[in-house]
Amino acid sequence: MENNAGSASDDVIHVFSRKSCVDADEIVSDANSFAPENLRLAQARDPDVAPLVRWRSELTERPCWNEVAKYSDTAKNYWAQWDSLEVVEGILYRNWSSADGRERFRQLIVPHSLKRELVARVHGVMVGGHFGIRRTQFQFQRRGYFVGWRKFVEEFCKHCVVCAKFHRGKPPKHSFLKPIDCGAVNER
Ligand SMILES: [Zn+2]
Repeated sequence: MENNAGSASDDVIHVFSRKSCVDADEIVSDANSFAPENLRLAQARDPDVAPLVRWRSELTERPCWNEVAKYSDTAKNYWAQWDSLEVVEGILYRNWSSADGRERFRQLIVPHSLKRELVARVHGVMVGGHFGIRRTQFQFQRRGYFVGWRKFVEEFCKHCVVCAKFHRGKPPKHSFLKPIDCGAVNER
C-alpha cells in the first residue's frame, strides 16, 4: 500500500515537465505548470477542489452532508470518494486500483486550470504521434483524475487539430512508448 507512495508523485512531475508539446499552437504549455508549488496553488484556486484539500488535510473523518451541501456538485462528487482521496505534501490525489488489485496509481486531482494542458501532454507528448481516444484515456488514468475526465479526454482528442489531419488518410504510425525523460527540469 505504501511502497509506491514516494515515486508516484515524482513520476507525475517528471512526465509533465517535458517541454515538447505537439499542441503548442493550441495549448499554452508551461514546463512549470506541474511543479509542486504550482499544483498546490492551482488546487487552492479551484473551488471544486480546494475544500477537499482542506478537509482531507485537517479532518480525520469525512465532514457531514450539511457542511458539504453548499459546495458544487463536483466538490460533492469528490467528497463521495473520500476514502480514495489523500493529501501528500499539500497536493490532493486519488488512489486508484484495478478491480483485481494488481494495478494501483496515485492520480493527481487535476484542477480546472490545468485540465487541458495535462490532457494535451498525455495525448501527444509521450509518443512520436498522437494517441487515439482510448489510449489517451488509458494513459491519463495512470496520472490524473477529475470528475468527467473520460468525456473530457474524448472531446479533446476529437478536436485535436493535428489528429484531424491524419483522420482523412490512414492513421499515423505510432512509435512505441518512449521511456519517460526524467530530466532535471524541476530540480532546484
Ligand atoms: Zn492529436
